[in-house]
Amino acid sequence: MTLSINCKDVGDPVCTHTMYGETEEELMENAKKHGIEVHGYTEESFEEEMAKNLENFRKVIKTT
Ligand SMILES: [Zn+2]
Repeated sequence: MTLSINCKDVGDPVCTHTMYGETEEELMENAKKHGIEVHGYTEESFEEEMAKNLENFRKVIKTT
């Protein structure tokens, strides 16, 4: 089973990058890397944002 999430589904208006992970932890890790590399987050600001939006984030996770 692969978990995936699309940047667009978590509110980015232009980025359609899809992140994948075997587990939710791995998915979060990959999302964090993407957030830092592409969207200018720092580790702290990303985790802060993630903590606030965890419910929404979980809702848009797709499993395939
Ligand atoms: Zn993105």
